[in-house]
Amino acid sequence: MSVNYPSASLKPYKEESLANGHAWIFSGALQQPPRWIEAGGLVDVKSSKGQFVARGYYNPHTDIAIRILTRDPEEAIDADFVRSRVRNAVALRRVFQPEQTNAYRLIHSEGDALPGLVVDRFADILVMQIHTAGIERLRPLLIDALLQETGASGILLRNDSMARRREGLDVEEPVAVAGEVPEHITIHENGVQFLVDPWQGQKTGFFLDQRDKRESLRKYAQGQHVLNCFSYTGGFSLYAALTSKETHVTSVDISGPAIEAARKNFALNGLNPDAYAFRIADVFAYLEEAANQGEQFDVAVLDPPAFAKTQSTRNNALKAYRRLNTLGMQVLRPGGILLTCSCSGVVGMDDLLGVLSLSAQRFQRPVQLLETYTHGVDHPINLAMPETGYLKAIFCRVG
Ligand code: SAH
Repeated sequence: MSVNYPSASLKPYKEESLANGHAWIFSGALQQPPRWIEAGGLVDVKSSKGQFVARGYYNPHTDIAIRILTRDPEEAIDADFVRSRVRNAVALRRVFQPEQTNAYRLIHSEGDALPGLVVDRFADILVMQIHTAGIERLRPLLIDALLQETGASGILLRNDSMARRREGLDVEEPVAVAGEVPEHITIHENGVQFLVDPWQGQKTGFFLDQRDKRESLRKYAQGQHVLNCFSYTGGFSLYAALTSKETHVTSVDISGPAIEAARKNFALNGLNPDAYAFRIADVFAYLEEAANQGEQFDVAVLDPPAFAKTQSTRNNALKAYRRLNTLGMQVLRPGGILLTCSCSGVVGMDDLLGVLSLSAQRFQRPVQLLETYTHGVDHPINLAMPETGYLKAIFCRVG
């Protein structure tokens, strides 16, 4: 049975990047904006010669006018479509052994061919973020599919991101849209326990994109003095502290509730938080003072929030990364291990390597690159859309 939606025609030769697998059409690529279609409405994208190219949803308010959902003209955007996409995402996450790791990103937007949708799984609870008007319209179908395909006992909708305004969407209070969602959820990640606050925690409550880096940190941390900057609820700190009783860990974050949660997470794992250092402080100020006092750590983790959200703030962001990494190196003993990260989409791996080089040159310290990472298997990157990858992480040894 053939299906039809209103059409949007491309300008000549604009179908190429779509044919290569890209999922966005910018408004400038359209012959003329589709009429009579509300934000989030479905459209068939046609080449300038009138041939079907792809099917997606349209938004007149955004630079990205259309996001692609399917390239199959026979595939309607209905309950079966949504269910098959969710099932495909669930299948990838079978790499996790639930007794070791029961928290992961279940749907990573374009990376899972559902642009505009993020779903994180925390044990039996799903936390959902809808970033586009097109996904808003699929909300009821998505909730049904998620419940059926995951057996989750509750779904929390966190539509509280300010970025929704760009789509013409309201910023809402978090709300349980299925089942019961408790105030806190206990999860385990590589066998480490964390208490997650899905209602009020940052983003969806926990930064799942650092799981593989946290695991990797273990081998460098045993028995060492470890500094975790931008610690949030103690992710890296706990992995380090659990390596041995001799490991010292200092966690620094500007958020009081995050540090309080980190202390609770230490206790949850049988560690006495009073035996470790926790600082509620601006990392830049903290590092400056530590450097002035000649403090030295064996291992330092720098995992700041995104300093740049757009191209226009990129240069300032690079300066901030430079300052941060320079300060980080100053408190690292010769031969110490630095894990430096950037989750700014507009700052690439080469940029971060450049930042490291400049910091290293400043102190004439040789740097050995050890490992590089992105965000891990539950945050797949669409090969045709490198811009869907945002996290870069580098482990290095600073001489
Ligand atoms: N590494 C963490 C995630 C970090 S998210 C993990 O593995 O879970 C970024 C954190 O940086 C947030 O907790 C935020 O409160 C904190 N933050 C933002 N700006 C800061 C600053 N200037 N100084 C210290 N912490 C800051």
